[in-house]
Amino acid sequence: MIIVFKPNATKQQKAHVENYLTAHGFDYHPSQGQEQAIYGIIGDTTKLTPEFFKVFDGVSDAFRVQESYKRCSRAFHPLNSKVKIGNTTIGGNEITVMAGPCSVESKKMLDDISKEIVTYGANVIRGGAFKPRSSPYDFQGLGEEGLIYLRETGDKYGIPVVSEIMAISDIPLFEKYIDVIQIGARNMQNFALLKELANVDKPILLKRGISATIEEWLNSAEYLASKGNQKIILCERGIRTFEKSTRFTLDLSSVPVIKKKSHLPIIVDPSHPMGQRELVIPMARAAIAAGADGIMVEVHNNPDEALSDGAQSLYPKQFKELMKEIKIIAGALGKTIAKN
Ligand code: PEP
Ligand code: MN
Repeated sequence: MIIVFKPNATKQQKAHVENYLTAHGFDYHPSQGQEQAIYGIIGDTTKLTPEFFKVFDGVSDAFRVQESYKRCSRAFHPLNSKVKIGNTTIGGNEITVMAGPCSVESKKMLDDISKEIVTYGANVIRGGAFKPRSSPYDFQGLGEEGLIYLRETGDKYGIPVVSEIMAISDIPLFEKYIDVIQIGARNMQNFALLKELANVDKPILLKRGISATIEEWLNSAEYLASKGNQKIILCERGIRTFEKSTRFTLDLSSVPVIKKKSHLPIIVDPSHPMGQRELVIPMARAAIAAGADGIMVEVHNNPDEALSDGAQSLYPKQFKELMKEIKIIAGALGKTIAKN
């Protein structure tokens, strides 16, 4: 961290900062410019904040040189990190496609949808069993029954499954049935849940919070990485802005920004931000073009009767077309669609 003193900072004001640093086990490297003194703090500064020093008398500015999300930063780990899920490796040259219904509604519907999407090339089957619905009167998911159907379907087709967790108490169920544990947008900053999942030996799909900055998102990933779970996949799913034409604004700029700041793989969910199926397809294509390591899309065989998110769910045939299109885009970037 760097502390910049005001041009008229007094010796006493500098001594106050110096005493604080030495009393807390830090060393510092002063350098005196023509007008201002600049101190470089030496030591593990992860517990210090620039805001704390900015209000010291005589200090004009303070900022970090190293990000607070140390383990997730590219500076810490220059090469892309790769997360293996089934036969697929996310974060390398392969594009991973996760697809399936918003909610698992019955064993049959999950099987009917999976049969088609697996034929068209999906690498991971998605489906919610514990749903974060805005209204308590909306379908809340089948709970454990839904997880069991996911496991049975995944085993039948030899494909890994991903589902969203909402409560710490459900961790044993997810450890038993699910291959990739999803943390939904609404729980990105549920730090208690993150701390517990840091000890779980499963890949975690961490969605971006509805109003989260990229820095906050990476700090949430750091909760997992700092305690030893390095198998993290980020998922951009749109943020809330003033624009009302879509459910959320899909921030595809986060893809190259994440690639610059972090070594973690990132996929994009174009379904939840766009909200209408015809808008999902162009943004899925754009996500691959922007450099995402994969996509997650909702697919339903009878979306008019879906218990959640029918309007944004692709028909299986649309998913088939999308797979063909992203293959071409991936090819233009020297990537391939992972085999399932
Ligand atoms: C979902 O993937 O089913 C979901 C609820 O997504 P999000 O957390 O991004 O809203
Ligand atoms: Mn959904």
